Amino acid sequence: MTVEEKKNRLTDIMAAFIGYTAVHLPDDIVSKLEDLRDAEDDPAARSIYDMMFENMRLASQLGRPSCQDTGLVQFKIECGSRFPLIHQLKDILHDAVIKATAETPLRPNAVEPFDEINTGNNTGTGAPALFWDIVPDDESCSIYTYLAGGGCSLPGHAMVLMPGDGYEGVARFVMDRITSYCLNACPPLLVGVGIAGSIETAALLSKHALLRPAGSHNPNKKAAEMEKLLEDSINAVGIGPQGLGGSSSVLGVNIEYSARHTATIGVAVSFGCWTHRRGHITFDSDLGFITDTHAGFTYGL
Ligand code: SF4
Repeated sequence: MTVEEKKNRLTDIMAAFIGYTAVHLPDDIVSKLEDLRDAEDDPAARSIYDMMFENMRLASQLGRPSCQDTGLVQFKIECGSRFPLIHQLKDILHDAVIKATAETPLRPNAVEPFDEINTGNNTGTGAPALFWDIVPDDESCSIYTYLAGGGCSLPGHAMVLMPGDGYEGVARFVMDRITSYCLNACPPLLVGVGIAGSIETAALLSKHALLRPAGSHNPNKKAAEMEKLLEDSINAVGIGPQGLGGSSSVLGVNIEYSARHTATIGVAVSFGCWTHRRGHITFDSDLGFITDTHAGFTYGL
């Protein structure tokens, strides 16, 4: 294949993958929703879960997005320094978003600030958002896709706490957000918490936390313990699916962190909704691929 042919193939696969993730929820989220439905005693809450599964069935049958808000497309890229299309990848992902918007179709959500014009194709200044990690001496490329809906982006929040606020302050920050804004995000929620030295690193880590599977745990035992404490506390509020009450309100709580300054605790929280449209696909240097989020995605196989 020429570089141009490879570029076209990767654009086509990524457009198809983005579209597929808009229609089909990730396997771990479907499985977690089944667990929550089966464990729910409240009849009204169970009926909400039943509606969610009917929604998923119809989306799949009709090939339509699982929610009308197909979000803004974001990518986290872990790209090997020797991946053949590393220099073209930014343009490829840009074109893939335009193609997915037209073909899936996705709702055009990208609005240029100040001009206040919807670009009509989900791209624009800094959109799609790309967060890069370059992996030295590697030929593969791992791409996380995320369709960030308006309702689930709305409660996102970040601030820098005084060091004396401690981990109680982090918990208070998260619970304040849960009890004030989280109904906008269509529970049950995946809650991503970032802890760092400054506001922007905490915010980015909270979003990356949403890319971890539901049910995964931070490898640090104390962080994992805090994930469990927050999950139990949020469930105890009784928000339930779609905020109508129930025994569970979260798909999980994922914490990611980086070393902080001795005088600060930067903390941020991001939310994923019940239609948590996250995907993960990894390419080898010949553009063969595997995905660990969507076993049903078989483009060209
Ligand atoms: S929060 Fe999620 S499920 Fe609710 S409207 Fe937004 S994208 Fe759709």
